[in-house]
This record gives sequence, structure tokens and C-alpha cells, in this order.
Amino acid sequence: MGKHPLGLSIRNVSKTYANGVQALHNVSLDIPPGMYGLLGPNGAGKSTLMRTLATLQEPDAGSIRLGGIDVVHQKEAVRQTLGYLPQEFGVYPKASAQELLNYFAVLKGLTDRAARQETTEALLRQTNLWDQRKQKLGGFSGGMKQRFGVAVALLGNPQLLIVDEPTAGLDPAERVRFLNLLSELGENSVVILSTHIVEDVAELCTHMAIINRGQILLEAPPLEAVAALSGRIWRTLTDKQALPALEQEHRIISAKLLSGRSLVRVYSPEKPGPGFEAAEPDLEDVYFSTLTGCFVPVSQQPKVEDLAL
Ligand code: ADP
Repeated sequence: MGKHPLGLSIRNVSKTYANGVQALHNVSLDIPPGMYGLLGPNGAGKSTLMRTLATLQEPDAGSIRLGGIDVVHQKEAVRQTLGYLPQEFGVYPKASAQELLNYFAVLKGLTDRAARQETTEALLRQTNLWDQRKQKLGGFSGGMKQRFGVAVALLGNPQLLIVDEPTAGLDPAERVRFLNLLSELGENSVVILSTHIVEDVAELCTHMAIINRGQILLEAPPLEAVAALSGRIWRTLTDKQALPALEQEHRIISAKLLSGRSLVRVYSPEKPGPGFEAAEPDLEDVYFSTLTGCFVPVSQQPKVEDLAL
């Protein structure tokens, strides 16, 4: 991927909490401008990394650069160009969307009244909240609140926008709306979407990394990672009782219930046996095969071409 002057470069970042949990182990990533997905299960270390990038906590070791800014040591400079939508955030329930956005705009340093009005109006329209701008935030749905969070995060045209688990609590329609909003954000800034939902990354991101137990297991463009699994994913429909035996013999990457039976997907360079048919790989296969260790950790085999066993 190489270095990009406006990109984010994370080098050997580690973090151990006071309780002894090592949340990040030697994490290195190159994040170019555009939409970047950080995918991993709960507890993987995503929020720890996001909070570190957002200058809310410091790593024990390692360095982070955003363009020319040293993120760990120049916190103020980062904060001036950062938009951060945390997993959970509070709003003043009695304020209207317009009032609160205006208030945050003042805090962000938009002191010129006319310019501020122009900015907040544009953001309320962009996030599709213009018609609800006078409603109190306390009555907003989860999706509306998230979109309001994006409006706040976008104040001041951030060069780095971080959205941490944004779709977790949204219903399907709200989720689509929210992802559409993210997809329209500029390609000139770095947008990091941290999520445990594979589809979020599949639909939006041009680059991604998979993290688990504080380690980066895979760093690749989603399409390349999927292509690397071509010819290696097989599926079969089986009874639930037969699953444990199948597990002994094959590298099962996922098993889903389908009308009371199990639809099993298996990783194998060759056809695993009769009863299996070739399956088109998808990002979920990449995710689960990476988590279950079919993919070798990127620290040992950094090139996508080398990742398929
Ligand atoms: P994710 O966002 O991927 O769910 P987190 O970064 O929240 O992961 O957590 C990574 C690990 O660090 C987990 O084991 C979690 O319990 C632990 N952890 C997170 N925050 C703290 C904290 N403030 N103090 C102690 N342990 C923490």
C-alpha cells in the first residue's frame, strides 16, 4: 500500500490495561484516504485502537502518524482535524438537533454566525435530518441519533473520521440509510469504520483489516482477499448431529441453520469429498477463515497472494 501523505500510518502499537489485559499487540497498519474497515469480534481491541487514534488514550508503545502529524504527541493538532463517533454518546434530550449541532459548532471554533449557519444547514441536509431539525433529540430513533452523531463528527471537515460500531443497534432500514450516508463521504479523508458486522465492510470499504485478540490477522482490499479464496470454499448441507464428525475431518469455517439442517462451509484447497459443492467465496468466508486460522497471520505472510494455504 505504501505511504500516502494524507493517510494514517500505525506502527507497532501496543497497549496493556492496568488489569493485565493486552488489548493491542504490536499493531501496524497503513490506512489510505477513503473508507477503511476494521473488522473483528467483540473484545478484539477495535475500540482501544479507535480511542488511541482519537487521542483519548495513549499506547504503551509504538507510533501513529496522520499525514505530517504525530498523533501520540500532537494531540491538539489531531483533534482539530478529527471527527469521532464513539460507540455510545449522549445527547441533551431536550435540545433540538439544530440547537445542539449549532452548540457543537461553536465549540469547534466556528465563531462566524453566517458561516456556522451555512455549515450546520449543509450537515443537517447531508445527514437527512433537515426536516427533523427542530425536533428534540430525546425523541430521535437510534438511526437518527447516529446520523446526528455523524453531523457532529463532520463539523470542521475532519481529515480523519472514526466511526466505532455504528450499525450495531440499528434496524435494517436505518442501517442501509446510515451506510449510504457514510458511502457519500469524501474520498479525500481517512474514514475508519470499526465493526463486527462483515456486511458493513463488504458494502462500503475499499481496504480493510481483520483484528482479533489485539493482533492484525489480515490487511487487504476486501475484493482481493475474497479472490484469494477462490476455489477453496466448499459447502454441504448436513444434519446437525453429523456436524461434530464433519468438524473432525474438515476445516469448517461456518455452519448456519437452514430449515433445521446445517449449511456448512469448509475451507479446502481441493474438493473435500462427495457431497460437497464448490461455493463462491465471500467476505464472510475471509473473516471466518482468518479467525479460525486457515489464513496465516499477516505478520508471517504479509502478501495477499501468499495468504491462501
Ligand atoms: P472491541 O472494541 O473490539 O470490542 P475493546 O478494545 O473494547 O475491543 O477491548 C479489548 C480488550 O480490552 C477486551 O478484553 C476488553 O475487555 C479490554 N478492555 C477494554 N477497555 C478496557 C479498560 N478500560 N480497562 C481494562 N480492560 C479493557
